[in-house]
Amino acid sequence: MHKDIATPIRTRDILEKYGFSFKKSLGQNFLIDTNVLKRIVDHAELTDDSAAIEIGPGIGALTEQLARRSKKVVAFEIDQRLLPILEETLAPYPNTKVIHEDVLKADVKGVIEKELGEIADLMVVANLPYYVTTPIIMKLLEEKLPIRGIVCMLQKEVADRIAAKPGTKDYGSLSIAIQYYTEAETVMIVPKTVFVPQPNVDSAVIRLTKRKEPAVSVINEGFFFQLIRISFAQRRKTLLNNLTNGLQEGKQKKEEILSALKQAEIDPGRRGETLSIEEFARLSDHLFPIFA
Ligand code: SAM
Repeated sequence: MHKDIATPIRTRDILEKYGFSFKKSLGQNFLIDTNVLKRIVDHAELTDDSAAIEIGPGIGALTEQLARRSKKVVAFEIDQRLLPILEETLAPYPNTKVIHEDVLKADVKGVIEKELGEIADLMVVANLPYYVTTPIIMKLLEEKLPIRGIVCMLQKEVADRIAAKPGTKDYGSLSIAIQYYTEAETVMIVPKTVFVPQPNVDSAVIRLTKRKEPAVSVINEGFFFQLIRISFAQRRKTLLNNLTNGLQEGKQKKEEILSALKQAEIDPGRRGETLSIEEFARLSDHLFPIFA
């Protein structure tokens, strides 16, 4: 077995050798604790027949652990300066492939077909760059990739919002957008001390397990997501207020909105944050014919 990349000393040596300086703008906080890395990989429940897709390998700390526990790892890295480093650190792991691309612009589905076509079990596992956590997760879910789920490190505050339940202060459009596609749970809280440099915020690891079908079925998905955004536009206002302000010609159609709320059995005086995803789905289907 090769020496772990993610020890404080080895990480320092690699960074010094290449004269690497961290770019805050790319969310570069590298993990230097192999126990934390191993626990992240545990949560992905990989087997020898699984493949992992990593976003942002850095110097390969997580990539190495994934390579040891799966058939193949494909990692998207935006920073060209890391490529020669990864070539050295990942040399002992021929089952790894680094793709030099911004994951937000990459054709991830195409890469999966080309690189991982014959592998049935795919997991995304990453210590995400915090400046783009939400866009990356939403891209991976909206593109309906053939993955089992996502295990990723992110800001604790975002993890709280993603996994939040109705009626709590963290519950909002992000919770619903992600819980629509997945079952979300926070599986680890991670201290700042296991990163270099240390981030300014607390971190957590979440596991998103993709549902076979979305949590609810609605007549029009686009309208459902629009309704959710509108319902949380001003958190302190009532649902009726947000709907009449946010829906097109909402004020003129107030009576129709009230009737849709009644048919969906939702009190117009409630706030968006109290509605379950099923209630939003019901409301969406009653409102859609009015605004289609
Ligand atoms: N996986 C490494 C670790 O755990 O030590 C590094 C994680 S670091 C938080 C985030 C990594 O994502 C950095 O290597 C950074 O260069 C890379 N990155 C930032 N934005 C990216 C993007 N849009 N696409 C791909 N990689 C990105």
